[in-house]
Amino acid sequence: MRTPVIAGNWKMYKTGGESAAFVKEFLPMVAGVKGVEIVLAPPFPWLGLVASLTAGKKIGVASQNVHFAPEGAYTGEVSPAMVKDVGARYAIIGHSERRQYFAETDDSVNRKVKAVLAAGLVPILCLGETLAEREAGKTFEVAGRQLRAGLEGIAAPDGTKVVVAYEPVWAIGTGKTATPGQAQEVHAFLRKTLAELWGSGAADAVRILYGGSVKPENIAALMANADIDGALVGGASLKPATFAAIVKFK
Ligand code: PEP
Repeated sequence: MRTPVIAGNWKMYKTGGESAAFVKEFLPMVAGVKGVEIVLAPPFPWLGLVASLTAGKKIGVASQNVHFAPEGAYTGEVSPAMVKDVGARYAIIGHSERRQYFAETDDSVNRKVKAVLAAGLVPILCLGETLAEREAGKTFEVAGRQLRAGLEGIAAPDGTKVVVAYEPVWAIGTGKTATPGQAQEVHAFLRKTLAELWGSGAADAVRILYGGSVKPENIAALMANADIDGALVGGASLKPATFAAIVKFK
């Protein structure tokens, strides 16, 4: 039985005050929620703040990126151990905005996933095809390549801690959601690929989230699919009531 994960990626939004105000409003809204892992991914400066404000409330905190080295002369970068030290438990890795704007490659993503696991954090490994790739019929080829490359050199059972997020690039921030059917067929393909890597028992333990214009109106239909184990939510995670409505999809 896989516990669903609903994670909110705040991207480069919210001041410290706005982050604290979000948490204050959000906590009572989700106080009774059971059987869902809730994760908030604020910008780096507010990781410790959000972790301390949510301590003991069964809400995990994620960084939106990390460097793959444990420490070093890498000006402007943050290591997995530093993220852990301020109370975060997850790290989003390989988000399409990082691949697109910050030259992340399958190789750097793989190094980061390994570093995050080594630090004792849970990586949320993002992957997904662009519109051009989908239209060229390359969705499975791209998603499969990104999954295998991101997990290169990682074995089960450690690997089963990884949370995979399928995020078709054409659905991120565009208001265009993949249909539940489109998402499910890619999720089933990803699970089959995981089974080829690690065996079906391990593949069945991995949570595969969908991301791309998830909102309160479409979450239930997405979650009704066998291989969709939660959501990575961008825009709709910025307002407490909207994100709480997604968390309470059942
Ligand atoms: C995201 O940033 O991971 C995302 C899915 O964004 P949105 O929900 O705004 O499409």
